[in-house]
Amino acid sequence: MKELVKVENLKKSFGKISALRGATLTLEERQQYVVRGASGSGKSTLLHLLAGLDRPSGGKIWVAGKDLAKYSDKELGRYRNQFIGLVFQFHFLLPSMDCLSNVLLPARIGNVSVDKVKQKVLDLAAQLGVVHCLGKFPYELSGGEQQRINIIRAISLEPKLILCDEPTGSLDSDNTDKVVDLLKDLASHTESTLVVVTHDDKVARQFPNKFFIQDGVVVN
Ligand code: ADP
Ligand code: MG
Repeated sequence: MKELVKVENLKKSFGKISALRGATLTLEERQQYVVRGASGSGKSTLLHLLAGLDRPSGGKIWVAGKDLAKYSDKELGRYRNQFIGLVFQFHFLLPSMDCLSNVLLPARIGNVSVDKVKQKVLDLAAQLGVVHCLGKFPYELSGGEQQRINIIRAISLEPKLILCDEPTGSLDSDNTDKVVDLLKDLASHTESTLVVVTHDDKVARQFPNKFFIQDGVVVN
């Protein structure tokens, strides 16, 4: 198995608070991981740093052999757009745009052919049963529909690393199952690495690879 992500002694402080105190872990290509840990243990901080949304206070992150610290802000933006798919508990769909425009946004930002991505988005929407949502605004959708549209947007450019922070935290048990199955299927289809942070035991059981974070370090 090939390594996709290597995190070494990763640290992140916010003023006096140490959110990460030397986290070390490796993620392999095409594998699916669950991350668990108490609230405040540093899970979201870890995902944010992996996604290039923020920079560490110490330690290293290599993704596909590249040291993220060497990226300029512009390169980090491109990395986020092309390499990372991010799914949060609450969607960040733009309220002023219909869902189709929302899901095509990463392609527009990344100067990727919108026509090509559009076909994929339509296929995904059909597969997920949300074609009827594409012409609607996010507020017109149910929570489960919003999260499916959100996921389509996150993976529309086939990112190699899909990072999900409590993606089912606001869903009922029916939609939770659907969203987890969907993430797993999509990630295997695109041969991406999937990382899911969850508090839900039932979700966690569906992942053979587990990480535990405690007080800002990975313990196993
Ligand atoms: P988790 O996702 O495991 O609940 P977080 O990574 O969100 O934990 O937070 C870890 C610690 O860092 C917490 O004490 C939290 O309050 C703090 N923290 C996280 N982000 C910030 C921030 N932007 N500013 C200040 N403190 C933060
Ligand atoms: Mg969190």
